[in-house]
Order: sequence, then structure tokens, then C-alpha cells
Amino acid sequence: MSTQPSHKATPWQPSTTKEQDWIKIDLHIHTLDDPKDAVDYSAHQLLERARSLGFRVLAITLHDAVFERREVFADAAAMGILLIPAAEVRLCGGDVIVLNVSPFGGSIGSRLLAEIDCFDAIEYCHFHIGLFNPNRRAKRVATQFGKPLIATSDAHRLHAFGRHYTSTPMPVALTAENVFAALRNGPLRLTSPSSSFTDFVSAIYFVFLAHPFRLRRKFGSLMKHSSNSKPGVAPQC
Ligand SMILES: [Zn+2]
Repeated sequence: MSTQPSHKATPWQPSTTKEQDWIKIDLHIHTLDDPKDAVDYSAHQLLERARSLGFRVLAITLHDAVFERREVFADAAAMGILLIPAAEVRLCGGDVIVLNVSPFGGSIGSRLLAEIDCFDAIEYCHFHIGLFNPNRRAKRVATQFGKPLIATSDAHRLHAFGRHYTSTPMPVALTAENVFAALRNGPLRLTSPSSSFTDFVSAIYFVFLAHPFRLRRKFGSLMKHSSNSKPGVAPQC
């Protein structure tokens, strides 16, 4: 994203166009290509689910790696889905979603204010339940600096994709530049329902038990494989 917003975005502005003109966007999703997390669904499984749920714009945001499998981009395009090259990078201890070549939101704590001009949008975290909502501060900062809030799923499990997303009116042409302009200028709709108690328990189970176990299985087996490999031959995920 390289241009400045033409006016202050109004993330909660209601729709002014027909319902069928709006598109669903999720710019923070992981797949099993992720080099750091142990995710159990493929980019193509994600595309199939995205198509069935009516998504038109996605970004696969691997940790510290740009997703650049050309065949997936081609397949997404054939399905009418714009896949934006992206990554989730660790910058000075904070995770930032980078789209194309520019940073686009993130939760980097107090440095967000000091570096606010570097960011085009602020991410609305999917994980909130009842009074526990870490997005309150994000909303205040977004309002204060005229930045759009962008709801994403940060999906690490396929069923988690599809519930948290941002919608905009369909641009004239579905290009990354037009989508970014729509996100900057609004109107936007954020879909990010409060977690249910079941979601909450499931997330705690996944984060503290299931995912660490998967990581041990994934990277444990890779290390074992690597130690049995010839020098210079990297294991493939
Ligand atoms: Zn993430």
C-alpha cells in the first residue's frame, strides 16, 4: 500500500450500496506452508472453503515468510479470488501483517503510536469474549489517527476461517490496489462476533495443548530427518 488515504476512514459506516455488491476479505490466515506454526490444512483447502463461503480477497500470512506458490495464486484467480502476496513478520518483537511491500496493521503495543504513520490500518483481533476485548484500545487508536480497523481471522484451523472478516463494496476491478483503496477509504463492515464459551475453551486447548504437541511432532520429525540427511540437503515441509 503506497498511497495515503484521501480522507479519514470510517470503519463502522453502514452500507450505502446493495448487499450483493459487498465482498468478504480476510488478510490474515495461516496454512500448512507455515514455517513456524503447525497448521493442518493446505492452501487449496483454504481456497475451497473461501469459495464456499463467498470470500473474494485473501492473504496467506506465513510467519516470517512470504507465501509465493504461483500455482496457488493461479488457482485462486481461476476461482475468482484475489490472493495478495503477504507475510506476518516479527518486527522488534511485534507481529505485523505485510501486504505487497508495505506494512499493514499489527499489534506492536505502545510502539504503534510512535510509528503510527508507518501503518495503513489496525487489525481487529478475532479473539474477544464478553467484557474481555483487547480491541478497545485498537479502536481508540484507529479513531484518534483516522486509520481503518480491519477484522481478520488469523486462522490456524480451517473451521476458524470464515467467521471474522472485513467487507467492502466490490471495487470496479478486483485488484490489490483497488482493495487497499477501499480499505483505506471505506465504507467497511467488520464481522467479528464474540467468542462463545465453547470457542474460548477450544482456543485455550489449541494454543496450550494441541498446537505445542503438533509443533513437537512437526519440528521434532524434521530435526530427526535432518540429522539423517546428507549435508546440504534441507528437509522439505
Ligand atoms: Zn497470524
